Amino acid sequence: MSLEDLPPLRESLSAQGLLAKKSFGQHFLLDLNITRKIARLAGPLDGAAVLEVGPGPGGLTRALLEAGAHVVAVEKDARFLPLLEELAQAAPGRLTLVEADALAIDAQALLTEHTPGRPAYFVSNLPYNVGTPLLTGWLIGPRFWAGMALMFQKEVAQRIVATTDDDAYGRLAVLTQALALPELVMTLPARAFTPPPKVDSAVVVLRHRPDAPEPALISKLERVTAAAFGQRRKMLRSSLKALGGEALALAAGLDPEQRAETVDIAGFLRLAAALN
Ligand code: SAM
Repeated sequence: MSLEDLPPLRESLSAQGLLAKKSFGQHFLLDLNITRKIARLAGPLDGAAVLEVGPGPGGLTRALLEAGAHVVAVEKDARFLPLLEELAQAAPGRLTLVEADALAIDAQALLTEHTPGRPAYFVSNLPYNVGTPLLTGWLIGPRFWAGMALMFQKEVAQRIVATTDDDAYGRLAVLTQALALPELVMTLPARAFTPPPKVDSAVVVLRHRPDAPEPALISKLERVTAAAFGQRRKMLRSSLKALGGEALALAAGLDPEQRAETVDIAGFLRLAAALN
């Protein structure tokens, strides 16, 4: 059977008697128009490698395969493997299924093993409970990837793209924007998912930031943002006290009376660089 001849996802799910498990953050996208749009937003996927976390019944996987990608799909819930096997047969040699916890895998090693030499993308409708640790792990890790298109809870997506003076601006925004160029490209109401979650969702596309800092600076950046946003209403001179306080702020060209939420990405990078 080819990709075009596969039955609608809703039919396959009920034929297999598969019900969503809340503990695994399972909210499925069964509308191929939506999953195809996410695949388009991700980038030029024809011939590219894609790591997908949590394929579930395979709605997004199918769109990625239709776009010509070579997909490595990591799923923790083994119940979906028979359904996904059908997809693998419909796109011979282009879908590798890995039963594993995505938090425990080495993404670069997996892609190098199964899809060597292809530009690599992360494209996923992420399980809510592990979305942020997966993103930060990929950002802090080796920069082998070409792009990402990831679905998060809308509130998390807003925290990723937030800018200074925005209530959502915090550690996640600074770390992400220091390491990549994120853009919130699409929001989806809860009713677009089966079963619907409690909140809306949004897709964030991330591109390379050419001037991303070196690993040594990233760990310092994490220390200054943790301290500064740990007490976000306080002035830098007190929130950064343990790291150098007023002297550190001045060395970074900042006003010690500023609060964390008014310091932009460049300011945080200067603070990290000034930290001993
Ligand atoms: N991609 C599918 C879709 O869009 O319909 C399913 C998305 S659902 C939000 C999240 C998927 O991630 C589920 O299939 C769930 O079993 C899987 N999952 C949850 N935690 C995981 C983990 N730690 N590692 C790998 N997969 C996980």
